[in-house]
Amino acid sequence: MSSVLVLIDTTPEGDVAPAAASLLGAAARLGSPVAVVVSDRDAAAFGATLGALGAETVAVVTPSDAAVLAGPAVEALVAAAADHSPMAILLTNSVAGREIAGRLAVRLGGGVAVDAVDVTAGPDGVVVTHSVFGGTYSVTSGVVGGPAIITVREGAIDARAEARTATVTSASVAVDAARHGAIEAVHAAAATSDRPDLRTASRVVSGGRGLGSKDKFELVGRLADTLGAAVGASRAAVDAGYIEQTAQVGQTGTTVAPELYVALGISGAIQHRAGMQTAKTIVAINTDADAPIFEIADFGIVGDVFTVVPQLIDAIEAKRA
Ligand code: FAD
Repeated sequence: MSSVLVLIDTTPEGDVAPAAASLLGAAARLGSPVAVVVSDRDAAAFGATLGALGAETVAVVTPSDAAVLAGPAVEALVAAAADHSPMAILLTNSVAGREIAGRLAVRLGGGVAVDAVDVTAGPDGVVVTHSVFGGTYSVTSGVVGGPAIITVREGAIDARAEARTATVTSASVAVDAARHGAIEAVHAAAATSDRPDLRTASRVVSGGRGLGSKDKFELVGRLADTLGAAVGASRAAVDAGYIEQTAQVGQTGTTVAPELYVALGISGAIQHRAGMQTAKTIVAINTDADAPIFEIADFGIVGDVFTVVPQLIDAIEAKRA
């Protein structure tokens, strides 16, 4: 069976990031998953973690210089591609993932397919599904010649691979700072929220202009905390100063694909839908029965968020008790 390389993202602490499970699940559908980790930590520990997520082989690659932008990951994947001749290479659809994918395609002579929401094995290679024009259409693409280098939208693919005992290899690669661009300074930004990360959360509660003010936007956080969800927002809510820009969901914000997306006081403009339409279940609360968000909602409540949401919170808490 052909190999499929998966670039494993790591957390700032150096552990395996949550996206690995979905990427390895997707890779197992296509061929034999080979997890590639760029790290100077003990290779055996990665073997156990990634084997449990379905990796057949775990290649831990230590770069000669880690203080380089996309370079270490590109060099690690180029080396792994030489060893495994993969049919496809999967990465997360993050800013870094897309940059690595582009550089890799040049080096390997492959083709890039970005922001995949599904991947399947077709008769002529990997068939990649994309959700485009704000989720209005689903289109498929494939790569002819060279490996298919695919960035996958986080949360979009539910597939999980069976656990196995992985073969672990370790290697080092030379990274040329002049070729890739060196990092001259790093300023750590402290995270101030205990809530889940918006990009990877399985539940997201978002608020829009309908919340009316920064103080009233606090209601979005209350429902999010009741559900253990991340907080998102429409651009209108961000522009009005109700919440910081990092919470913006949509075409010019973050793309999310959670199990549950709750839209409070959001009209459902196409630019907002572009960032959340692939959520598995969408719940909308809006006073306007004609708001476009109801066209894509699985459950819709026509009502005032300040009346409905407190009742919803009480009902969830009562059910838990
Ligand atoms: P509105 O459209 O004003 O809707 C507010 C809604 O709240 C209304 O439907 C109203 O009925 C409802 N409401 C009011 N009061 C209540 C209440 N008490 N209870 C319940 N409901 C109530 N937008 C994004 O979100 N993300 C993006 O990434 C993004 N990128 C963009 C990029 C470009 C190039 C452009 C041109 C626009 C972009 N936009 C984006 C903006 C987008 O077009 C909309 O303007 C925006 O999404 C509207 O936000 P909203 O739904 O919160 O506000």
